[in-house]
Amino acid sequence: MESIKRNILLNPGPSTTTDTVKYAQVVPDICPREKEFAGLMKGLREDLLGIVHAKPEDYTSVLFCGSGTINIDICINSLLPEGGKVLVVNNGAYSTRAVEICEYYGLPYTDLKFAVDELPDLKKVEEALKNDPDIKLVHTTHNETGTGILNPIKEIGALAHKYGAVFTVDTTSTLAMRPINVYEDNIDFCMASAQKGIMAMTGLSFIIGKTSEIIRSKDYPRRSYYCNLYLQYDYFEKTGEMHFTPPVQTIYAAIQGLKEYYEEGEQAKWARHTRVFNAIHDGLDELGFEDIIKREWQSGLVVSVKYPNDPNFSFEKIHDYCYERGFTIYPGKISTTNTFRLCALGAIDEQDIKDFFVVLRAALEEYNVAIPVRY
Ligand SMILES: *Cc1c(COP(=O)(O)O)cnc(C)c1O
Repeated sequence: MESIKRNILLNPGPSTTTDTVKYAQVVPDICPREKEFAGLMKGLREDLLGIVHAKPEDYTSVLFCGSGTINIDICINSLLPEGGKVLVVNNGAYSTRAVEICEYYGLPYTDLKFAVDELPDLKKVEEALKNDPDIKLVHTTHNETGTGILNPIKEIGALAHKYGAVFTVDTTSTLAMRPINVYEDNIDFCMASAQKGIMAMTGLSFIIGKTSEIIRSKDYPRRSYYCNLYLQYDYFEKTGEMHFTPPVQTIYAAIQGLKEYYEEGEQAKWARHTRVFNAIHDGLDELGFEDIIKREWQSGLVVSVKYPNDPNFSFEKIHDYCYERGFTIYPGKISTTNTFRLCALGAIDEQDIKDFFVVLRAALEEYNVAIPVRY
């Protein structure tokens, strides 16, 4: 097996993959309607449950062809009963995406907004639920990838359940990285795409959710054909297959990614991401960079960094300099402040971050940005 040029992706997914995951896609051609392929997907669906400690008698996983946003779309449009309303606990770009989905489907919703650098106020969440018995679905984002703030899903989930609502959480940027337990975290539905925590390829997304709730949603209003959770679930249960053509090679890569996930182990993988995250902070501290979110609120996976106040600093130039040397950094997603992001996803370790900071320092020097950087 020839090794492939290794790029260090510090963007918030897709992430750096192993060569074994890359090569897992090189397989003999196969028609995905063959029993052999359905068998592979069955194993994949079962193995996904283990990541969040979901038992197969309570939860199921449903695969979709699409990027992670498809999961948010599907959960919201499929799991809202007639006459029900969605409550989005919103402190960032990804929960705003859920609000936009409600708008596009014309669904009744409450956008419970908080500042992007603040945790949601649980008292306000409870008030919203108490004052509006129509709320049947509560949605939020675990790690708001735009800033790296970690939301208190366990508490929000408990409130959702107290007031009889289903709780859907966008865990795209935590699942298979930060340990999650659907029971302890009060999660009815969580989701991710294959290119983030399981370090595989783009194009495959999955929802892990309570089977009883999916079955109940059979008679809910049907708002989409391609993106209906029950329809896809039912097809899987009856045939073992995706309703429409699956991303075949991407599925082979996901199976390999998952195998490597279990080989590394939940705790060891989280410890590695933490090492990477700490190395990012050490490197930033050394150069004098400031971050946006309070340290104790950070997810441990994404750091949002303020642009220095220096006329010579150009994100594009720094980006290009690093990119040419195999390191990808990423712009921020906060409308009010100029930021860039460094993420601890993917098959990387501490040494990669040390190597990155050598390059970043050289980039700053090349463009005469003062070190330590100024604010
Ligand atoms: C990556 C990500 C998604 C999916 O985004 P796509 O652009 O569809 O890949 C959704 N939610 C969160 C929190 C994410 O980090």
